[in-house]
Amino acid sequence: MSAAAVFGQQHIARGIGRLSEHVLQRGAGSWVWTDEGVRLLDLTMGIGVVGCGHCHPVITAAAVEQMGMIQHAQVNIGYSAAYIAFLRALLPKLALADASLDSVFLWNSGAEAVEASIKLARAATGRQNVIVMQGSYHGRTMLTAGMTRSKTVYGATFHPLVPGIYSTPFPFYAQHGVGPDVSEDFLVQQSLHQLHLLLAQQTAPRDTAAIILEPVLGEGGYVPCPSAFLQGLRRVCDAHDILLIVDEVQSGTGRTGTWWAVEPSGVRPDVLIFAKGIANGLPLSGIASRKELFDKQDPGSMGGTYAGNAVACAAGKAVIEVMDNEKVLDNVAARSKQLFAFLHALRRSPAGSLIQDIRGRGLMVGVQFVLPSTQAAISASSACPATGASASSSSLAEADKSISAASANATVARPHEVGLQARAQVAPRIVKKCLE
Ligand code: PMP
Repeated sequence: MSAAAVFGQQHIARGIGRLSEHVLQRGAGSWVWTDEGVRLLDLTMGIGVVGCGHCHPVITAAAVEQMGMIQHAQVNIGYSAAYIAFLRALLPKLALADASLDSVFLWNSGAEAVEASIKLARAATGRQNVIVMQGSYHGRTMLTAGMTRSKTVYGATFHPLVPGIYSTPFPFYAQHGVGPDVSEDFLVQQSLHQLHLLLAQQTAPRDTAAIILEPVLGEGGYVPCPSAFLQGLRRVCDAHDILLIVDEVQSGTGRTGTWWAVEPSGVRPDVLIFAKGIANGLPLSGIASRKELFDKQDPGSMGGTYAGNAVACAAGKAVIEVMDNEKVLDNVAARSKQLFAFLHALRRSPAGSLIQDIRGRGLMVGVQFVLPSTQAAISASSACPATGASASSSSLAEADKSISAASANATVARPHEVGLQARAQVAPRIVKKCLE
């Protein structure tokens, strides 16, 4: 371990989990270099953030140029040219999800943007309660920790969490006590049934401001939401004037092969949340909605010192240009095809008996492994839209505890006991194959 890592161990908050003790000094494309000069293939891509690759020259140049123009142009003080230029580039992309998403509020992180969406929903509807999906991940601030339902660690020791948050099952078989072979239709019906029960028994529609979900459940198991479920949610929301919020923090910015993962369903969200890949590593997030909803908020009730920072906005605009000019969505489609072909071939091989399920969309792909002797399950995922060479961690929703395999960035969920050997044997071999 390098001296810097030892220093970090002593002085950085223990509450931050870490996949490895590497000290990253430099990055380019899919590669990173440690402070000891070791080159590593970055299988995390910042957990789905650096979709255009580390230090993409166009994005770096845009940020550097902005640094020399103005770095801090606080939006509560006046309009920022970089903010406006970013919005001009972003609005046509938002229109791909719904043309009426014509107004935006920018923030720094995903969790902050999720909070902003709940503030908007409460102000716009005059209602308080929010429905989230089991297995969801929405962040680690006090509000979003209460909305996150993927692992108890995000809330344990911080209770009481914010009240008024209710959860309902996502159409993922593991949440319904059935196996992967059960039909999607069954899972959709079951999940909608549970939602109806929730609205009848726990949070009345007149008290419910919003239903929020990830169009591809991320940390909860890498599960694409069936279009029929999204359509069912839309019907419920329309019937009761509840807002439908899609958290595209992880699934957005092209990672699933379309700009937004909600697009293929044809469902129009009332609020769309973006972050992570939108500025390729600079802190930028936001929510998009209709002007008429934003207009229900009092001026001054939203905003923050760094919200929509000028340098982050310049990087965000450059990301959109790179996505278009370098046809990144085409690359997602090609790499996704390659990855799925490989995974299905792997499943047909002798080692394939360990694979219980392969699922996902684009480069947000989950593989669920079962080790018969230990009853353990592993899920891994792939992430980088530009290169297709990354992976990010994921775990099963029902797992009570997990350990991470640094080399593969897969997580080994252990509903029962399982040794480190499981990851050592399985994960590196799979990654190695992926790279061939
Ligand atoms: N929502 C989703 C779907 C996420 O995946 C994440 C981050 N993993 C967040 C919200 C929170 O984003 P941040 O870490 O930037 O606060």
